[in-house]
Amino acid sequence: MQYNHKTENFLPYKTVEGDYPVRLDANESFLEPNARILQKLEDIVKTVPFNRYPDAKASEVCKAFADYYGVPAENVTAGNGSDELIFVIMSAFLEKWDRFITLSPDFSMYSLYGKLVEGREINLRKDAQFQVDVDALIATAKQLEAKLLIFSNPCNPTSLGLEREAVRRILRKVDALVVLDEAYMDFWDQSLLTEFADYENLIILRTCSKALGMAAIRLGFAVANTKITKILRAAKSPYNVNALTQAVGKALFADKVFLRENTLRLIQAREMLYASLLDLQDRFPGCFTVLRPRTNFVVLQTPAAPVLFECLKDEGILVRQINNTLRITVGSAQENQQLMDALKKIWTTREALAR
Ligand SMILES: *Cc1c(COP(=O)(O)O)cnc(C)c1O
Repeated sequence: MQYNHKTENFLPYKTVEGDYPVRLDANESFLEPNARILQKLEDIVKTVPFNRYPDAKASEVCKAFADYYGVPAENVTAGNGSDELIFVIMSAFLEKWDRFITLSPDFSMYSLYGKLVEGREINLRKDAQFQVDVDALIATAKQLEAKLLIFSNPCNPTSLGLEREAVRRILRKVDALVVLDEAYMDFWDQSLLTEFADYENLIILRTCSKALGMAAIRLGFAVANTKITKILRAAKSPYNVNALTQAVGKALFADKVFLRENTLRLIQAREMLYASLLDLQDRFPGCFTVLRPRTNFVVLQTPAAPVLFECLKDEGILVRQINNTLRITVGSAQENQQLMDALKKIWTTREALAR
C-alpha cells in the first residue's frame, strides 16, 4: 500500500545514541536548575490538577514569559517547544504550492515542516563564510512572490548573527511573512522582540530550551501582532502545552535573577571557549577557522571536520559535525578543558590533520 508520496522517504530526526562522558552536541545549557528552583518544581507537582485538561491558552505562563521579556501577554502564543510552533505556522500560513524561503545552512526543521504542508521550498545558500546576502534574499523573495521566509538569528548551525538593521530591512522590503527564529537571541543583543508590533509580517520565536536551560519541558513561544496571534491560537491544537510544563514555565520566568545570571554565565563560558579556540588557531595555523559565536555553541570550519569528529568521539567527546564544520556546544569549565586538551592532542599527534 502506498500511504503518502511525500513522507515515504522521510527519516526520523537522528539523535546520537551511546555513552559519551562529554556531550557537546545538542546546544543544551550545561547549567542545571538550582536547589531553590528544584524545590519549587517539587511543590508544583502536588498542585497540578492531573485529571483536568490544561489551560488551552496557557495564559499564566504566557504572562510570565511576557513579563520577563517586556512584551504584552496578549501577543504571545505558547507551544510544545518552538518546534511545534514552526509546524503550526507553516500549516496556518502556507497553502499547497506556496513558496517558502529557507537559507542554508540553517535549522533543518523548517524544510521538513514546510514540505509536510506541501509548500515549495526555495533554498538560498549562504556564501563560503556563511554570510547572508540580504539584497539577494530580498530580491528573490519579491521575484518569486514567496509567501513565507524563515531563518534563525543568531543562526543554528553557524552561530553567526545578522544585525538588527539588516533584519529590519528584510521586514520592510518583502511581502512574505517573516518567521524570525530567535532561539539563541538570549546570547546576543540584536533582538526584534520589542518591535514585533511595528510589522504586519513578523513572527518571532523564542524557546526555553537553550539559554533558559529547560529543554526537557518542551516550551516555546511565538510573539506577533494581534491579527497573526489570533490565527496562531486558532490553528494550534487546543491543549498543546501540558499542565506541568505550564506550571514549571511560570515558576521559571518568575525567577528573573536566576535566568539572567545563568544566561550571563553561559555567555562568559562561551567567550572563554572562543578565546581558547582562537589561541589554538594561532598555535596550529591553517588547521581550522573559528567563527565569531553569538550563541551557546562555537563553530570550527575545517576540511578535517569528519576526521576530527571521529577523533573527538574516541576521546569520549561528542560534538556535531555538519559538512566541513564542527558545532561545539559550550560545556562546563571542565568539559571545555577536556575538549581543548583533546583538540591539542589530536593536532599534535596526527600530522595528517595539519595542513
Ligand atoms: C533548538 C532550536 C529550536 C527548537 O527549540 P524547542 O523549543 O526546543 O523546540 C528552534 N530553532 C532553532 C534554531 C534551534 O536551534
